[in-house]
Amino acid sequence: MPINEKSYAYGAARSSIREIAAYGAARKAQVGAESVYDFSLGNPSIPAPDAVRASIARSLELAPTQLHGYTPAAGLPSAREAVAKSLNRRFGTNYGPDDLYLTCGAAASLSICFHALVNAGDEVIVIAPYFPEYRVWIETSGATCVEVMADAATFQVDAEAVAAAITPRTKAIVINSPNNPVGSVYSADNLRALAEVLREREAALGTQIHLIADEPYREITYGAEVPWIPALYDRTLVCYSYSKSLSLPGERIGWALVPDTNPDHDRLVLAIAGAGRKLGFVCAPALFQRVIMDCVDEPSDVEAYARNRTALTEGLGRLGYEYIEPQGAFYLWVRALEPDAEAFFERCKALDLLPVPSDSFGCPGWVRIGYCVSHETIVNSMPAWATLKAQYE
Ligand code: PLP
Repeated sequence: MPINEKSYAYGAARSSIREIAAYGAARKAQVGAESVYDFSLGNPSIPAPDAVRASIARSLELAPTQLHGYTPAAGLPSAREAVAKSLNRRFGTNYGPDDLYLTCGAAASLSICFHALVNAGDEVIVIAPYFPEYRVWIETSGATCVEVMADAATFQVDAEAVAAAITPRTKAIVINSPNNPVGSVYSADNLRALAEVLREREAALGTQIHLIADEPYREITYGAEVPWIPALYDRTLVCYSYSKSLSLPGERIGWALVPDTNPDHDRLVLAIAGAGRKLGFVCAPALFQRVIMDCVDEPSDVEAYARNRTALTEGLGRLGYEYIEPQGAFYLWVRALEPDAEAFFERCKALDLLPVPSDSFGCPGWVRIGYCVSHETIVNSMPAWATLKAQYE
């Protein structure tokens, strides 16, 4: 039967991260959970704040038709107002509810932004290594995904490399800071250099280039400042999610923001509404819209991640592993002990260590260790990391 072959291919393609997690679960059933060190998924191990439960309990008092009813496509005005006010307090901005469109997580807000911006044949730049789903969402919006490697030493954005990759078809660039998979946070200087390059290329080519800031890890940092990108570059859209900051990944709640400073603001607000309509991404989960309204300023509890980060970096550092010091998110980017990260992963796997090989993120020679796991998993994995290191000596 003829079906959509592109959709079939996305469904049939293997997602390494999910495959490793499924292997980890099967292996745990075989040999016991405590003997398998699964660092594959970015599923927060910290419970959602108590305020989330309290908010849900309050909502349950509402009349069922109100509790479970449709909201406007963009979300409850009161929830969007609460988010706008929080952003204004934190970044000295002047956003209003109509600048926001509530979504099922960052996945939907990114998809909506791509569909709002691009036409067939346009190009969208991503900074490698990158979150693998970007490619799927960019391609399904009709654009081509163009990879530009981050700076090889610092994993900051290589602004010169971005400049070289920009063509008359470049419509947008996606920036993810704090970064998955590296844990880097792009500095204000680095972002200013990028903004300068984008403005210079726009002027030279007579085009407009958007910056899409994907920020689900904004609140998960270890002292680094995360610059507010719309303050550095006007033509910015921001995508956010509460999956990581409030540990709500399964509840599917986030937003897309068109800052009032964006020169195409009015048309983009409507294009985002239109993209949501086109994709069927309307009326994000109503219960969690209310949770966000109540919990928008709840601090993220990063203590447990900070503790894991210290144990992991100190432990692997003592063993002689090379890694990028993570400034944010909950991933450690570690150099594989041989050039082929997949071959290195097989040696990890034989010791029941399950990181993700870097090829999945468009970059050879590294692995990603997700440290949003229990502290014991990190501590207890150290002998296996030592055995692995010894195998290469
Ligand atoms: N962007 C990045 C960089 C991510 O790591 C993730 C999820 O892990 C997403 C987007 C999607 O997030 P959500 O769960 O909010 O859809």
